[in-house]
Amino acid sequence: MSLWFLRGLRRGVVTTRYPKTPPDPWTATLPTPPSFVTDRLDIATADALVAVCPPAALRREGLELVYDVGACTACGRCLVVADGAAVPSGQIELATQRREDLVKRVAIEGGVQ
Ligand code: SF4
Repeated sequence: MSLWFLRGLRRGVVTTRYPKTPPDPWTATLPTPPSFVTDRLDIATADALVAVCPPAALRREGLELVYDVGACTACGRCLVVADGAAVPSGQIELATQRREDLVKRVAIEGGVQ
């Protein structure tokens, strides 16, 4: 039995602080899911993003781009066609307790009067 487990039983602590130290800078170079810039996002661009997304993590509902982070594989295809409307988020820690928290609704504001 590991020492940390026995120490946790003795102290009554069953969790540890995370992360223990700030993330390493190299994590900024990893592929990460995109984030979207609403005022650069128009309907044509949103439809182009939906069309290139292999796992269907993106769909358009009216004037919103619905982005399922849980389905995104961080392939980067949307970054290529977005013309600045999608940027790397730099986020690698995406854990949540509810599946629906991974679905983001992004307003399409570019080109909308
Ligand atoms: S990175 Fe790839 S999987 Fe993720 S939203 Fe963009 S195209 Fe879809």
